[in-house]
Amino acid sequence: MGYFPGMSLRWGPPDGRFWNPPVQTLSHDELRRLQLERLGHALERIWTRPIPFFRRKLEAAHLTPADIRSLADLAAIPVTVKDELRASEREVPPFGDYRGARLEDCVRVGASTGTSGRPTYILWTRRDLEVDDEAACRGRYRWGLRAGMSCAHAHPFGLYGGGWHFSHGLEALGVLNVPLGPPATAAQVDDAVEVWRRVRPAEVRLFGNAAAKFSEGARRRGLDPARDLGLTVAGEDPRAQYRTVSAGLEALGMLGTACAEADGAHVCEDLAIVEILDRRTRRPVGDGERGVLVITTLEKDNLMLRYDLEDVVRTNYRPCPCGETHVRLFWEGRAKDIVPVAGRELLPIDVALALATVPDLTGTVPEYQIVRRRADDGRLHLRVELTPVAQETGFRGAVERVVRERLGVATDLRVVPPGTLPRFDFKAARVVDAQP
Ligand SMILES: [Zn+2]
Repeated sequence: MGYFPGMSLRWGPPDGRFWNPPVQTLSHDELRRLQLERLGHALERIWTRPIPFFRRKLEAAHLTPADIRSLADLAAIPVTVKDELRASEREVPPFGDYRGARLEDCVRVGASTGTSGRPTYILWTRRDLEVDDEAACRGRYRWGLRAGMSCAHAHPFGLYGGGWHFSHGLEALGVLNVPLGPPATAAQVDDAVEVWRRVRPAEVRLFGNAAAKFSEGARRRGLDPARDLGLTVAGEDPRAQYRTVSAGLEALGMLGTACAEADGAHVCEDLAIVEILDRRTRRPVGDGERGVLVITTLEKDNLMLRYDLEDVVRTNYRPCPCGETHVRLFWEGRAKDIVPVAGRELLPIDVALALATVPDLTGTVPEYQIVRRRADDGRLHLRVELTPVAQETGFRGAVERVVRERLGVATDLRVVPPGTLPRFDFKAARVVDAQP
């Protein structure tokens, strides 16, 4: 392979605190210099490769690579949205003209999850996979995973699979990868339980309902999930959402994870420039304010230039006591899940954090669903499952009170019996649109 020294991603061996200590502790100024240098390479690639889609964007704004002399100049480049990638894929078969590498130089194809319309395709060269793996290694290392340990997960595989990405990141770190796959059938659950029993993974990463299904499967086989698998099914702590932040598989799947401070997820600023913009004005928001995540990938062959992920995030630019210098982000949710209530813009995480404070629920959250009305009638329309621990009488009042106190809005609450609302093996869809 043989990359130029300037293109090397890892500048030193792990030191117990960081996977890539020299890079993860760069000073603010050094980090900005590195970003600018790498942005220069990306712009050069757009011209010389060429990458027609992004070149058109720059030319439409009357820009050449020479015009981008500082990171502030980046703001002059128009933002790209997913619909434009879809159009490019439609018009220039087979995969559009926004690719930074020739198809014959790519080694993997995937599809974005397509939660908002037709999915787009993702291509990786070997170099792109190296960038993804580097980011993933830092992320897992922050969680305390080390070579020789093991990690089980239930990510899906196939075209829409984050499973490949998660798996390769673990393997690059030297961790034993235990890819259980989603618990779709009883046979799959049985197989997963058997390998789980043998390995007893140090870390288990499950979404939504998967833990309950594996737990059930273990009992079916006469095992005690806690004793034999180390698996306890607890209600989800909504703050767990802040442990990771992704820039989508199309940009940088593992953008970052939280360190032990648990005050936002450190992102890889040497591999991506993150901008947080107001979703309407596209102007930068202040530190700690919500905005949409716009990503420019650095060091990738199939690069992205100012790509709007339609994800809502906020930053934490305070210096972190852990010593890592890269900015921390909180992933707040998808822009498509914003629910306007009484002039405010609420996301499922707001509701989950409020519900977690209902007395008797001990920090965990009951199953809930937000019904979005076509017109904002000033109330949050909420369905919540009554959990066995909650008493009917106090529960309704407590939910209404915490929503009013924490979110400042009135609730139209429907308490429903346990098992009424849909369950999800992967990421939960909490917002449904009211039928007209
Ligand atoms: Zn930290």
